[in-house]
Amino acid sequence: MHFVVIGGGPAGTEAATYAARLGVEVTLVERDVIGGAADLWDCIPSKAMIATGGAMAFLDRSAGMGLGPVRAVLDQERLRRRIASITTRLGQTTEAILASQDIRLLRGEGRMSGPHSVLAETPEGPVRLEGDAILLATGSRPRIPDWAPIDGDRVLTTRDAYPPKVLPRHLVVIGSGVTGVELVHMFSSLGSEVTLIVSRQQVLPRKDPEVAAVLEEDFLRRGVRLMKGARAVGIERSGDGVSVRCDDGRVASGSHALLAIGSLPNVERLALDTAGVEVDEHGYVPVNHHCQTNVPHIYAAGDLSGKLPLSSVASMQGRKIAEHVAIGHTVSHRHLNYDKAASAIFTEPEIADVGLAEADAFAEGRKIRVTKVPFAASARALIDDDPRGFVKIISDPATGVVLGGSIVGRHAAELISVVALAVTAGLRVQDIVESMLVHPTLSEALAEAAE
Ligand SMILES: Cc1cc2nc3c(=O)[nH]c(=O)nc-3n(C[C@H](O)[C@H](O)[C@H](O)COP(=O)(O)OP(=O)(O)OC[C@H]3O[C@@H](n4cnc5c(N)ncnc54)[C@H](O)[C@@H]3O)c2cc1C
Repeated sequence: MHFVVIGGGPAGTEAATYAARLGVEVTLVERDVIGGAADLWDCIPSKAMIATGGAMAFLDRSAGMGLGPVRAVLDQERLRRRIASITTRLGQTTEAILASQDIRLLRGEGRMSGPHSVLAETPEGPVRLEGDAILLATGSRPRIPDWAPIDGDRVLTTRDAYPPKVLPRHLVVIGSGVTGVELVHMFSSLGSEVTLIVSRQQVLPRKDPEVAAVLEEDFLRRGVRLMKGARAVGIERSGDGVSVRCDDGRVASGSHALLAIGSLPNVERLALDTAGVEVDEHGYVPVNHHCQTNVPHIYAAGDLSGKLPLSSVASMQGRKIAEHVAIGHTVSHRHLNYDKAASAIFTEPEIADVGLAEADAFAEGRKIRVTKVPFAASARALIDDDPRGFVKIISDPATGVVLGGSIVGRHAAELISVVALAVTAGLRVQDIVESMLVHPTLSEALAEAAE
């Protein structure tokens, strides 16, 4: 059995590694760096910069911790080196894991050249690979509309942002989804003035309004300008500034503009027609619950599959594919349930969710029990001088089974793991209540919310 993987991001590397562990011969084709966009441009650099901004914001609150004034000064060059060293180290670790599993790594661009055949254009020339199973895991790239003259200098995409060449004096962020609000948080923590263009009436339009309100309050406290109900339709550069034109005639001016309006799948160069693989009208490759495309031995995973665009989901798809390729559909094989994926927004306060959302339950007319505890009642939150936010747990009133939860507050992205485990394992609220947790910790609020 030979398994050929195109793309070395979270989906591709996890599938390759796990399949090799299960005894499959694997070749991985990657045109850029191992670790993918996730490690090079997206998840890791963004969170590294947010961590630096968080450290600065924490020092700004030093008085609350009983300290005299402490003021941090950003060192752009050190920040750049720090991000490069994290991404390099992660890439090297992943490469070492691939090597330890005897996975053949081909540097070059891969494309289909028949139903079982992949052509890799390597620096040494083309290499043809025959695969019994093939995984397409080529990820996605930022969407750039016609009206956005991206120059990587003053008009940026997320790929120019972590870090940018210079810290913007006044940044206009276009797009108020997860990436947009993280960018606002990051740049305002680092000292930039920020304007956010919000196409609807709330940031994070798909989120619980209560959660979005906490974030908007924080943005306004920091002096972020929210331009609501405005859709950007043009960007003009003039001297050392930019002007973003909106459909209602308003203009947002700043020193830089940054686009965060979604992504497009990397599909065009895969020659999928040679293998008969279908794509949908947006270019994503539809898959079934085993991540098989319409051609059963060809799989697709990660952002290319058009499911939840999260690194964690991409890795789990990769793992499930490896299992399916190596051992088929066994009794122990559990299908991926995308509704149970935890996700987080690394703002301040952090926002994390898993499972059933309150609004969706109401929309479905489903009976639920919602319990909520504010962090203001938590000893740990007071000790850390950050009592913002709350824990909300959603359960089945008849059985007590945990169906979902939302956490807004410090370390929400870590704390949600407990609720995610409960949702995946079908635990009851009682199981959380009766866990003897450490005191004083933020996780105690989980037990109280589950009560
Ligand atoms: C700004 C930003 C922040 C994010 N933060 C988070 C986060 O905090 N947490 C989270 O879970 N998700 C986050 N995401 C989403 C996450 O980055 C993606 O969901 C994830 O990268 C998808 O993994 P993937 O394996 O599908 O693709 P990628 O990580 O994009 O990897 C695909 C790989 O395929 C390679 N490739 C493409 N075409 C070819 C070809 N023809 N031949 C060979 N190689 C090819 C590319 O070079 C790349 O290395 C973020 C996204 C963005 C934009």
